[in-house]
Amino acid sequence: MTHLDVFDRHESEVRSYCRSFPAVFERAEGSYLYDTDGRAYLDFFAGASALNYGHNHPQLKQALLEYIGNNGIAHSLDMGSRAKAEFLEAFHAYILEPRGMNYRIQFPGPTGTNSVEAALKLARKVKGREQIISFTNAFHGMSLGALAVTGNAFKRAGAGVPLGYASPMPYCDYFGPEADTIAYMDRLLGDTSSGIDKPAAVIIETIQAEGGVNVANKEWLQRLQALCRKHDMLLIVDDIQAGCGRTGPFFSFEGMGSEPDIVCLSKSLSGFGLPMAITLIKPEHDIWEPGEHNGTFRGNNLAFVTAKRALELFWADDRLSRQVQAKAELIRQGLQRVCNKYPQARGRVKGRGMLQGIEFEHVELAATASRIAFQHGLVIETSGSQDQVLKLLPPLTISEADLKRGLELIERSVGEAIAELGIAPSKAASGSR
Ligand code: PLP
Repeated sequence: MTHLDVFDRHESEVRSYCRSFPAVFERAEGSYLYDTDGRAYLDFFAGASALNYGHNHPQLKQALLEYIGNNGIAHSLDMGSRAKAEFLEAFHAYILEPRGMNYRIQFPGPTGTNSVEAALKLARKVKGREQIISFTNAFHGMSLGALAVTGNAFKRAGAGVPLGYASPMPYCDYFGPEADTIAYMDRLLGDTSSGIDKPAAVIIETIQAEGGVNVANKEWLQRLQALCRKHDMLLIVDDIQAGCGRTGPFFSFEGMGSEPDIVCLSKSLSGFGLPMAITLIKPEHDIWEPGEHNGTFRGNNLAFVTAKRALELFWADDRLSRQVQAKAELIRQGLQRVCNKYPQARGRVKGRGMLQGIEFEHVELAATASRIAFQHGLVIETSGSQDQVLKLLPPLTISEADLKRGLELIERSVGEAIAELGIAPSKAASGSR
């Protein structure tokens, strides 16, 4: 058995998830993780949405093992490789073409923040301007450009240098449903004395997963797009956490009337948890010089192999999308039941698709429930500026039985967290949106 103290002894203080989930994991299959004692944990975190198709999906694993067995090239910078060619063709055939989307595909470095950096650089180059509009509670990654458009003060402080060239604006419903934040931005952008320098682009998450599972509604997204067109700004959608089927369709902005100029994708793109990211660029904006944005690990061919297989398996038809919609409804009902059962928790169900959560007015409840859930064998994260949201990210492929089991564990854990924190029963109302 491996003990956790090895991490205390050797790993940097910066480690985090091993503090929230104190176990040493050894194996994983489908929706379950197993620690070195063989204890099973139901995974409602799924690698922060990097494992949308579960752990070690047998057909993805098979494709990978065959590829390695045949001495398939593992690393190729951005040289031509068969695996990359096949991924590009599959992405075009299964994702872009059926949706009538015309984008060039850039391979930045293999992480989400790499994709965001590429998007921001390119937008600035296209428009010849420096500012980017970002949003309250946004999360786009840890490198300096991405951090500058991220809201969280703790993460921003880690930069150690001033973070500039970003103009934060209120996200949808930031001031509640009555305030018209699009009109507010329109007024500022149209007023040459507002103090806002003309931006190159807007960067948006359709659902702010890290920022507290905040959802931008369809009308707001449509008006945001119109605002971008009116003020000559590019629209960048960061679909790193909400994309790859998490909300039902492949892209979280499908059916929302959005036609982004640039799209950032990573996390579940490889389908197997292998590092991989792309930046989708409308052809008219693809003005990079060859090699202008570079990186050693842009050619993770193992990821290309599993990514292509995942596209064939899950995106040749709309079966997965429909299953996600059905499971999303089960999640909504399960979470609403928790809110109704414990009105004293003052919980509110938030989210879309299989990216949902409960925001508690008693902010410490989410972290306490997460800790207790782990003791009961459920891995579930918190999010939001005060970690006030218990956030669900189960694999999209989870069985209905496991989904229900996880929801029951959440109900039990929230009940025990309320008892532990001594939150007295009350008649307070709970709601949903
Ligand atoms: N953008 C969004 C919306 C994310 O959720 C994340 C990570 O959680 C990132 C960017 C950064 O991705 P990475 O951690 O792979 O750099």
